[in-house]
Amino acid sequence: MTGTRIITIKTPADFDKMLVAGKCVAAMHDVVRSAVEPGVTTGHFDKLARQVLDDFDCQPSFLGYGDPGNPFTGVLCTSPNSVIVHGIPGDHVLSDGDIISIDAGAIYQGWHGDAAFTVAVGDVPDDVANLIAVTEQALWAGLEQAQDGNKLGDVGAAIEATATPHGIGVVREYVGHGIGRQMHEPPSVPNYGRRGRGFRIKTGMAFAIEPMFNLGTEDSYILEDEWTVVTADGSFSAHFEHTVLITEEGSIVSTLEEPRPV
Ligand code: MG
Repeated sequence: MTGTRIITIKTPADFDKMLVAGKCVAAMHDVVRSAVEPGVTTGHFDKLARQVLDDFDCQPSFLGYGDPGNPFTGVLCTSPNSVIVHGIPGDHVLSDGDIISIDAGAIYQGWHGDAAFTVAVGDVPDDVANLIAVTEQALWAGLEQAQDGNKLGDVGAAIEATATPHGIGVVREYVGHGIGRQMHEPPSVPNYGRRGRGFRIKTGMAFAIEPMFNLGTEDSYILEDEWTVVTADGSFSAHFEHTVLITEEGSIVSTLEEPRPV
């Protein structure tokens, strides 16, 4: 967090820059998604993503983030299997039956885009495939509620309601966020909530909405590297995220190759 509690209002010109950052993030996703297969390392994905940042004249959001004594060392977070978020790219080799979550961030002329997806590596059991599908569904249910005049509780409630029938654990410890000149801006955007409650969404705001769902319980802990967040019960975890801009013409998902209204 930045230490500020100010919720920033963006101009159309600011949104134009966030759209470029978003396109870059989408391209990072694409290049990594095409490279996912057994035998590949998470460090390889990071290398591919760095090239895309250069191609778009963007800077990484994640590299160097955090405590100066232990900054994040990747341009991606690469989170396999029971890693919920913030996995560090490196020597980890993917195997058939794994899942991998890729979180990418980019800055264009000072403005951020942030998005994540989870994909199966080869064949996975039905419950794992379902976890991935339900988490993606929940993201879109949340995005649809991110409209001028709605409340953040509408977003959280829609996400949570998608998980409930499946008995899937909704992570509460980590949440979505406002986004703009900072990757993480107020307000927090929880993946749970009550309709009609919470902060009112207004034109000019931007949010990163990001459900994190576990096959088991919601409980997590952090590994000794002080970054990697894993499920307490070792169950698999999925993570989907997009950045959404609340513009005068409606809400637009910016972190897609072709940004589109929601
Ligand atoms: Mg985020």
